[in-house]
Amino acid sequence: MSDTTLDAPAVTTLRNHVAGQWVEVDAVETLVDRDPATGEVLANVPLSGAAAVNAAAAAAKAAQRDWREVPPQVRARHLMALREVLDAHRGELAALVTRDMGKTLPDATGEVGRGIESVEAAIAIPHLLKGENLEGVARGVDVEMVRQPVGVIGAITPFNFPAMIPLWFLPFAVACGNTFVLKPSEQDPLTSVRMFELIEENEIFPPGVVNLVHGAHDAVNALIDSDDIDAISFVGSAKTARYVASRSAERGKRAQALGGAKNAMVAMPDADPAVLAAGVTSSAFGAAGQRCLAGSLLVLVGDEAEQDASLKTVVEASRALTVGAGGDEATDVCPLVSSDSRERVAGEIERALGEGAEAVLDGRDASAGAGGANLGPTILDRVPGDAPAAVEELFGPVLTVLRAPDIDAAIERVNASRYGNASVIFTTSGGAARTYRRGVEAGMVGVNIGVAAPIAWFPFSGWKDSIDGDLHANGTDAVEFYTRKKVLTSRW
Ligand code: NAD
Repeated sequence: MSDTTLDAPAVTTLRNHVAGQWVEVDAVETLVDRDPATGEVLANVPLSGAAAVNAAAAAAKAAQRDWREVPPQVRARHLMALREVLDAHRGELAALVTRDMGKTLPDATGEVGRGIESVEAAIAIPHLLKGENLEGVARGVDVEMVRQPVGVIGAITPFNFPAMIPLWFLPFAVACGNTFVLKPSEQDPLTSVRMFELIEENEIFPPGVVNLVHGAHDAVNALIDSDDIDAISFVGSAKTARYVASRSAERGKRAQALGGAKNAMVAMPDADPAVLAAGVTSSAFGAAGQRCLAGSLLVLVGDEAEQDASLKTVVEASRALTVGAGGDEATDVCPLVSSDSRERVAGEIERALGEGAEAVLDGRDASAGAGGANLGPTILDRVPGDAPAAVEELFGPVLTVLRAPDIDAAIERVNASRYGNASVIFTTSGGAARTYRRGVEAGMVGVNIGVAAPIAWFPFSGWKDSIDGDLHANGTDAVEFYTRKKVLTSRW
């Protein structure tokens, strides 16, 4: 991504989708979206200002009056149609994710599948929306609780799951009777554009029920500030999540803001070496470490010899990984989202080495590739406990090694983090697994699973600074977030 607009006729300038129409954006600025594997320019991305965002919010507000009257089982049928269209275009969408964001095709295919599962989960909305009642609370008096839509939802999404994360929000929001404005990441918006084209071509929703605006921070501010927007769903870095949650709270708006992470993987001395190697490498280096569930800390448990043996297993498996373009079948470690990102993460490695860390594996030795965005797997040992590489999310293929004599010390070290998204233990001991599951302060815990991503029927459950707000994405939390409860007390 650079801030230079390209005027070549072959390069499309993206448009917003408002009230069922594609509209040109009177942009405050325009960015260039590139394929990170090749550097090829894919599109110009216009950054919407308040006027463009307000137009989309007003369209969503106008559409909500009729949409909330559509019976829940009929809204579910709209989602069934969406599910069929996305399923029919699964391969095309995955290829687009690879091209625009960079991740490997199998990874992108998995992401699109996870997004489709969110649509499938939201199809149960007639059941999920059912309320509660208690009859006879006084003579002749009955009480009922019903769920009504919140209104218009503004959703702001990150670059790293350009198909899945918009689909965490859109299906549940509209299933509950809300209308929707999506602002995807300005770094890779093409998958959202394609999904909206499919929605429009197949007349999945009435005009205005779902809308798309391109933009960055100005568009985010405008969404939060708009009187037509009633709630904000956000996913991104912890810093932006805190900002979005605070600004929403100041305007009296409900917000769910899912933030960053520093996920620890604990290697017990009794771990199966093959399971440990596969789990750690896929978690730390899959998608080049650009997942909110990426394991970026490896806590080696045991005496020094046991710790070194586990480290050797992980280093050997990491060294064998192939770094390359996401579209190449042989690639294990894809490019970062941009050459700027690669430079930032390479700088963090340099900084850690300057602070006394030792690079057991240095990914800067790998070729940066045609797009300048590749970085190989990096493993840093002997990192000082308070160094950024030990406590902050670097969001690249960098694994920081920590050591603990036993499981209690490991749990204490893991729980010292300000984040609590996910954590994983590798062990063959049921007792150690149980101790860890019970004691670790993280909302998503894996046992012998590198990436403990919940399926869409469960909430995506980060804790601590990995979320601002109380309700998570997906599962019954989504229904709770996208509805307001009304309690009716009647005497007849
Ligand atoms: P980001 O915070 O830079 O951007 C996220 C969104 O916020 C984008 O749409 C962007 O346009 C907007 N934004 C960025 N800066 C802003 C600002 N100053 N003011 C207003 N809006 C702003 O995040 P990213 O780099 O796109 O995504 C990666 C981050 O997302 C990582 O930290 C990752 O852990 C996190 N993430 C979290 C989860 C989760 O479920 N907790 C899931 C995926 C990604």
